[in-house]
Amino acid sequence: MLSININGIVQGVGFRPFVYKLASINNLKGYVRNSSQGVDIKVTGSQKSLKIFVEQLKKDAPMAAKIDTMIVTTYPDRNFKAFIIMNSQSTSGSTFIAPDLATCPECLSELLNISDQRFNYPFINCTNCGPRYSIIDSLPYDRPATSMRSFEMCDYCHQEYCEPLNRRFHAQPVACSQCGPQLQLLDENQNPVPGDPLYVTRKFLKEGKIIAIKGIGGFHLACLATDNDPVSVLRSRKQRPHKPFAVMCQAKDLESIVHLNDSARQLLHSPAAPIVILPATGRHISLLVAPDNPFLGVFLPYTPLHHLLLQENIKFLIMTSANPHNEPVAAIAAELPNYYDYILTHNRAILNRCDDSVIRSTSSHNIFIRRSRGYVPIPVKSIIPLKETFAAGAEMKLTFALASENSIFLSPYISNSDTLRSRHFYQETLARYQKWFKISPQLAACDLQPDFMSTRFAESLNIPLIRVQHHHAHIAAVMVEHQINEPVIGIAYDGTGLGDDGNIWGSEIMVVDYKSYQRRFHLEPLPLPGGDAATLHPPRIAYAWLKNLDLDTSLVPDISDWAKRILDIQLQTGLNVFMTSSLGRMFDCLSALLGLAPNITYEAQAAMALEFLCSDDTSLKCQPYDYSICRQNLQIKPLLENVIRDLYNNVPHHIISTRFHHTIIDFTLQAVIQLRQETSINSVALAGGVMQNAIILNNLSRLLKKNNFTVFSAQTISPNDSSIALGQVMIANQQI
Ligand code: ZN
Ligand code: ZN
Ligand code: FE
Repeated sequence: MLSININGIVQGVGFRPFVYKLASINNLKGYVRNSSQGVDIKVTGSQKSLKIFVEQLKKDAPMAAKIDTMIVTTYPDRNFKAFIIMNSQSTSGSTFIAPDLATCPECLSELLNISDQRFNYPFINCTNCGPRYSIIDSLPYDRPATSMRSFEMCDYCHQEYCEPLNRRFHAQPVACSQCGPQLQLLDENQNPVPGDPLYVTRKFLKEGKIIAIKGIGGFHLACLATDNDPVSVLRSRKQRPHKPFAVMCQAKDLESIVHLNDSARQLLHSPAAPIVILPATGRHISLLVAPDNPFLGVFLPYTPLHHLLLQENIKFLIMTSANPHNEPVAAIAAELPNYYDYILTHNRAILNRCDDSVIRSTSSHNIFIRRSRGYVPIPVKSIIPLKETFAAGAEMKLTFALASENSIFLSPYISNSDTLRSRHFYQETLARYQKWFKISPQLAACDLQPDFMSTRFAESLNIPLIRVQHHHAHIAAVMVEHQINEPVIGIAYDGTGLGDDGNIWGSEIMVVDYKSYQRRFHLEPLPLPGGDAATLHPPRIAYAWLKNLDLDTSLVPDISDWAKRILDIQLQTGLNVFMTSSLGRMFDCLSALLGLAPNITYEAQAAMALEFLCSDDTSLKCQPYDYSICRQNLQIKPLLENVIRDLYNNVPHHIISTRFHHTIIDFTLQAVIQLRQETSINSVALAGGVMQNAIILNNLSRLLKKNNFTVFSAQTISPNDSSIALGQVMIANQQI
């Protein structure tokens, strides 16, 4: 008899029916059951059949399953009469929770089949698809432990649920129109609107209305993406003048709005169904959807409801998270800000809110901008066994991590700032994670920055606390992802992060292991009047830097004499002036000099505008600027002198931008080559928010590889602050 223990994402993904079928085909006897550890199998049969069974278990597992470990032990045979699926066994230890899964092709064809029991039923699902993470309350994953507990299955659904060879066997959210959740359309006063909710919603959408629509991990605000009017109303209600919106459409319509590549196609069709940012074709979609932006975020319908909305000539819908600025996404109608005309809601509760994931697809890398729905809470594996650890994260793009043994569980995206609701979401999610994964932290980690909510929360836990330098954590996160446990040359190009000298860092080239870092190269520090608040007004950064370096400030556009006078006083007195070596601020400065960023309304807007001027992320067609390095600082003055000369000579802005990008890449390459000579380290880790810039990431990794470096960058996690907690976990464990 074989006893097989499988750990990983094996519950709620059709694993037991898969095992049952496999055992039946191979004529084996025994049982399979869910446990808190994963899945237990006991089987008896001929040696040959057992061997095939074990091989097929690994090879043919359902698409959404992820086998982490599989331990096979041999015991004396027991006398089983048949192969059965046994009830779940609750034991101690942790297991994994499946992320929410996009509607599968079989469910979709039933949804659209007029003779099917679930024709047009917006909550159709099966063991291969449907909500998981967002509806789970406790483990093991069974219907009474989810928000489906309040729906009693009808005979039809129950029969499918109990039939081992059925696609809905033990599909916990199984439901139909007779027994499952129902839609409801409400007006702005939250009174029911008469008529078929779907039909009326589509009618309102076509009339240009904005509808709040309850989805998997939260509410979206939806409106036609093809017309200027609803988009401009949405922008003014959301007070979001420029930040791009994502567009949902059917697969057949994708290529009319974006240029697809194979890896993007794969991502879009994957069970995670993220938003993928791709070059826009410029057709069909209102220019207000992504103003001044050559890219467009698109995603495919990932719930049956989405499929039903994209009917009757509705092809392209804006779907944006329904949350007030910088707040967590709304999960109940009462949390909705009043940006909507109507609400399309339903009575299946969202227990765990989770925003859409966002991935930028470029010529050579997929860059995670946000890792949330569809990926959370899949753990990141650590090669080093970990203490039970809580890592608090940073502040922007806040996530935390909870770790034990070899698993690190990153939280979903919480929010972008410290508000009462984001604090509540943070603590509530942490409590759930502790319960599910049975982790009681003995060790905590946080950022060096004392003012972050996350830091204060970590301090309040009263357990040993390790404070981790921000860019050390950025680089460590990439090392953890790639299971590296030896020193690397780490590059953290970033917006902001407190350094151990009290200055704001953000252009760090370091020699790093988990225990320590040596800061070796960075940009020359320059004054940042007003600190991080200056990022909202890039011309002020440009003015302050030019003034500080005795350069001609008359070139700085979009700045009033009044603002200049205040800056002059600040620079003279040093009042509220911070020193920064942030590359993000360098991008802001350049962007301001080119007149690209008079007013910033969302993060990284200035840097993105500068990047968008460069036409191609695969090559750099003009020379870098001359630059000099003094005491391992890249000197800013000669670089800016070059830029100013080009501006005087009316050199086209796209050439200035490309030369600037090239300069940063060239400086980095030379610094890293020098460090390799000194240290014999050949591995380079690329981290930090600037690695979302495709020109920098793709060219830097290409040139490093050409120089025989082994290059690691964030692939299944984000390079930005939402992965900080991952690095913090490992550093704290090594430093304690
Ligand atoms: Zn399905
Ligand atoms: Zn039913
Ligand atoms: Fe950062």
